[in-house]
Amino acid sequence: MAKKTATKTAAKNATKATSKTGAKSLATLKDEICDIGRRIYNKGFAAGNDGNISYRLGPNQVLCTPTMMSKGFMTPADLCIVDMEGNQIAGKRKRSSEILLHLTIMKERPDVNSVVHCHPPHATAFAVAREPIPQAVLPEVEVFLGDIPISRYETPGSQTFADTIRPVVKRSNVILLANHGTVSFGETVERAYWWTEIVDAYCRILMLAKGLGGVVYLTGKETRALLDLKQKWGFTDARLDLNMNDRDICDNAVFKSTWQEVGVARRAFATHPEAHSGGQSAAVGGQSLPPGIDYEQLVKTITANVCRELGISPGTSPRS
Ligand SMILES: [Zn+2]
Repeated sequence: MAKKTATKTAAKNATKATSKTGAKSLATLKDEICDIGRRIYNKGFAAGNDGNISYRLGPNQVLCTPTMMSKGFMTPADLCIVDMEGNQIAGKRKRSSEILLHLTIMKERPDVNSVVHCHPPHATAFAVAREPIPQAVLPEVEVFLGDIPISRYETPGSQTFADTIRPVVKRSNVILLANHGTVSFGETVERAYWWTEIVDAYCRILMLAKGLGGVVYLTGKETRALLDLKQKWGFTDARLDLNMNDRDICDNAVFKSTWQEVGVARRAFATHPEAHSGGQSAAVGGQSLPPGIDYEQLVKTITANVCRELGISPGTSPRS
C-alpha cells in the first residue's frame, strides 16, 4: 500500500521539471533523448529495438526510452518516466527492460544524470572476445577515456546483471559489458553518448591497425604528458587518483585485478613494452619470454627471412 502511495506521489511530481534538469524543460530533454536515439541507430550501434537512454529528472524520477521500439524512430510521446526503483510512473509505452542498469549507475554515481546503453559493433567485439582495450595508443582516448573496464557477464535485465557494474563504475565513464555491449554515462545526454562513440571509434582503429601489422604504443613518458594535460583541463582519471607510475599508466593497471573473474585476457594485442607484465603474457613452447618484444611481428619477420632463404613465398609450397 505504502509503495502504491509513493508511486502515485512520484507520478504527480513527474509532470513537473525539477531543479535537477537545470534550465532545460522536460520537452527539451525528451527531444535530446530522441536525437541521441537517432544517432545511435544511424551509427549502427542499436539494431532492431536494441539500446536504451535515460536522464535523471529529480531525486526519484528518471526519464527513459521504451522497450520494443527502434531507438532511431522515437518521438517525445514514446518516452516513459520511472522512479528510482524502476516502477513506471508516466508514459503510454512500457519502460526499457534494462532500466535497472541505468538506475544502479545513477545510485552509485550522484554526479551522473544520463546513461546510454547500446551494442556498438567494434567495442562489443572486444567485450565478446574479452580482450582488454589497449592503452597508450591515441592521445584523445587517453584524455577522454583512460583505462576501460569489462564487467562480468550476467543474463541481461535483472538486478544481478545491473550489479555487475558496481566494482568498476566509480572509476570510469564507460564500461564494456561482457558478451553484450557498452554503457556510458555523464552529466548530460550528449556527454553520456560521447564516450560510447569515442570507445567504438577507438576499437575500430585498433582492429584496422592490427590488420596493418599492429599498433605502436606511446611511451610511458608520452602517456604521462597526456595525463598531465588531462589534469590541467580539469578531467579526473583513476590513474591520477591512484598515483600510478609511468609503467602502470600504460598497463591497464586500474582494472587488471578484475580480469580473472570476468575472463578477460590479452589474446589479440601485445602487452605494452614498458608494462610490468610485459613478459608475463608472452610464452612460446611453455617458456616465458622477455618483455618488450612484439612476438607476433617477430615470428612474421623470421618466417619471411626463412622463406626468402629457401626461395619461396610465405604460405606457398617450396619450388620443386
Ligand atoms: Zn543490451
